Amino acid sequence: MTIHKPTRYPVITCAYGVKGHAWAAGHHTGTDFQGQFGDPVFAVAGGEIIHSGRMHGWGLAYGVHVIIESEGVVQGKLQTLYAHLAHVNLDVVGKGKVKAGDIIGYIGASGNAPTGPHLHLEMRVSPFLYDNKTIDPESVLKLAKPALPIKKVGPKKK
Ligand SMILES: [Zn+2]
Repeated sequence: MTIHKPTRYPVITCAYGVKGHAWAAGHHTGTDFQGQFGDPVFAVAGGEIIHSGRMHGWGLAYGVHVIIESEGVVQGKLQTLYAHLAHVNLDVVGKGKVKAGDIIGYIGASGNAPTGPHLHLEMRVSPFLYDNKTIDPESVLKLAKPALPIKKVGPKKK
């Protein structure tokens, strides 16, 4: 299973698990990547598109978001959410299945994105029993061979 970087020059500005009252869960449930409005967002892993658009999916706070379900990445199924998009790349996402590295959308600040344009990447593993069944996306990105060129700035996980 190929693991692709989510943005062209991945820089993490807020790691998974950082505590704060800004988040309903009390901590950051995904990983934020720096980006300019309109920068491409790549599928980290290939799989089936199970949601795209603003409504439903995992909630309005995520704005325009895409969810991809992948098998063979982790034990069980993996759902990856790409949130706050400016818009979805319908030519690709409309096909219902994507490969790692496909451009699935473009960075924006839709939904609850007070820090401005960025990609919020969130991952959940099966069984999808609870909304907070998230894992640290960095643990999946670390599986890439060769290692992805990811830089980190901003608050560290406490
Ligand atoms: Zn975030």
